[in-house]
Amino acid sequence: MNAKAVEETAVVAPTVREPLFPFFDLKAQYAQIRDEVQAAVTRVFESQHFIYGPEVAAFEEEIAAVAGTKFAIGCASGSDALLLALMALDVGPGDEVITPPFTFVATAGSIARLGTRPVFVDIEPGTFNLDPQKLERAITSRTRAIMPVDLFGLIADMDPIVSLATRHGVAVIEDAAQSIGAAYHGRAAGGMGPMGCFSFYPTKNLGGAGDGGLITTNDPKLAQRLKLLHEHGSPKRYEYEVLGMNSRLDALQAAVLRVKLRHLEEWTTARIRNAERYRALFAESSCREHVTVPETVADCRHVYNQYVIRVPQRDELRQHLQQAGIQTEIYYPYPLHLQPAFAGLGHKRGEFPETERACAEVLALPIYPELRAEQQECVVAGIADFYK
Ligand SMILES: *Cc1c(COP(=O)(O)O)cnc(C)c1O
Repeated sequence: MNAKAVEETAVVAPTVREPLFPFFDLKAQYAQIRDEVQAAVTRVFESQHFIYGPEVAAFEEEIAAVAGTKFAIGCASGSDALLLALMALDVGPGDEVITPPFTFVATAGSIARLGTRPVFVDIEPGTFNLDPQKLERAITSRTRAIMPVDLFGLIADMDPIVSLATRHGVAVIEDAAQSIGAAYHGRAAGGMGPMGCFSFYPTKNLGGAGDGGLITTNDPKLAQRLKLLHEHGSPKRYEYEVLGMNSRLDALQAAVLRVKLRHLEEWTTARIRNAERYRALFAESSCREHVTVPETVADCRHVYNQYVIRVPQRDELRQHLQQAGIQTEIYYPYPLHLQPAFAGLGHKRGEFPETERACAEVLALPIYPELRAEQQECVVAGIADFYK
């Protein structure tokens, strides 16, 4: 089953009981910003300027400031951001790009889509991120880039990754789809390597009214090339320098995202507060020996796009919670190296044991900014009830 199919089954699965509250509550967020969003959308409609224009330019500048980079180039989705970043490096057939098998399909998918081989490196069990210890032996003469993922909102351990990459002359493309606003030793997500890729899919910490993405970079040559590639490879109207694609961030999306960006810091702080509240609740709960809460890393800011615990008997627990009206999700139930889409790589079960173990043990709990203390208490009580 692919990830989309998994999402769809999750949606249509029979619920035993009406949820007490949603797993993810975009309506609660919209209620706070309705007037601002409506004004922004109206502004774009009145201008009838839907492609590029001032909203896109302003948003790109604002995200460059958040990521601490010189350039930011909007595009149509986070998946396109990854694809464009690889295209900017001229990665193609015969090349290899290193990435973890425990991530959303788009990370390895963008690599394989270009005829390039995704070379998987297993994750660290504590952070769920690419294990730098296992990285060096995966580097070959064909390696062109390393694509670490800042999974669930925690930036991957970039210092050893970037130094290995530099030593071997390969690029780092940071999949920052889940980590906007996160920090690693004082540096912001999206600014860790030569290129960072963001997604504005509605469930991300900064989510648009549909699809959207963006690439950050400090390198003026890469910025130039990304601008060319996302606009049909066209430096001037009807002149095509390279084979590109049509992947732009809509002005409407940029206008909505600019409104939301003004609230991002307050929403991120609320996510972190909720994560701390879960930690305290679990520490006091009778279920504490069964639950492994997310690891925090010194001098790193986790922004909790997802709050993912590890538990034994995960599927039974999830069903128990669903019966109690408590919604949870699994990110990710199947490792990419065992997905039919990547069967051509010839991997077998057991090759990436930490990823396979994570797939069997992870459970995402509601963590959105508007989540209330009593709702979190209800989630923890539901888990304690299962293990009692
Ligand atoms: C969401 C996501 C993407 C893809 O972003 P889209 O905007 O949905 O195309 C890529 N990588 C990771 C880790 C993601 O979570």
